[in-house]
Amino acid sequence: MRTKIVAGNWKMNKNREETEALLAELSAKLPDTKAEVIVAPTFVNLETAQRSLESSTIKVAAQNMHFAENGAYTGEISADMLLNLDVDTVILGHSERRSYFGETDELLAKKMDTAVAKGLKAIFCFGEELEDRKSDNHFSVVESQLKNGLFHLEASAWKNIVLAYEPVWAIGTGETASPEQAQEMHAFIRKTIAEAYNASIADEVSILYGGSVKPGNAEEIFSKPDVDGGLIGGASLVASDFVAIINAI
Ligand code: 13P
Repeated sequence: MRTKIVAGNWKMNKNREETEALLAELSAKLPDTKAEVIVAPTFVNLETAQRSLESSTIKVAAQNMHFAENGAYTGEISADMLLNLDVDTVILGHSERRSYFGETDELLAKKMDTAVAKGLKAIFCFGEELEDRKSDNHFSVVESQLKNGLFHLEASAWKNIVLAYEPVWAIGTGETASPEQAQEMHAFIRKTIAEAYNASIADEVSILYGGSVKPGNAEEIFSKPDVDGGLIGGASLVASDFVAIINAI
């Protein structure tokens, strides 16, 4: 049985008071669920979030980190700094990091090395752009993102990896991949991992779908056999919507 996960990527939203308020509402409304529920606030509110969730099962993740141990990297945050706040999960490779901040597969491979070395759980994001899908290149783009970012890792690293397939054309656009498109890609991802490693790693890794998941479409997307949950952007900023999505799993 793969772990089901619903994770909220808050991106650059919510100040300290708003973080406390949203987490209080979320904790109060959180349904009894076997799924792992994760929220990823901004770096500056990680500590506030940890404190707000002290007696909750909801976990806190960071949205990014640097690969270096420490040093002269102005504006950056290290793995040890996250661990020091008891944050043991980090989102890496989000398409907004790739497109606005120039994060390449090669850089992400280094970040993954650091995450693995430090024992952090990584939610590794990838997905094709609209032109890739239009030109029928989506499978090869995803395959190369996986290969370049992850396939240098030892098999043992995979117990701490969660994948998040987020087609760029579906992020924040209101346009979701159809449940069939998500299932087709998730099955392809699993097959690609089975070929690079083995069937049991492919079978055990949780693969989340992200891109305009809302209360109205979550259940159908989550019902697909290779979809193990979601990475939610906009809808994770509204407690009732996020709870409805958690309920859909
Ligand atoms: P939306 O749910 O707002 O489309 O964002 C998805 C996402 O980027 C999660 O990381």
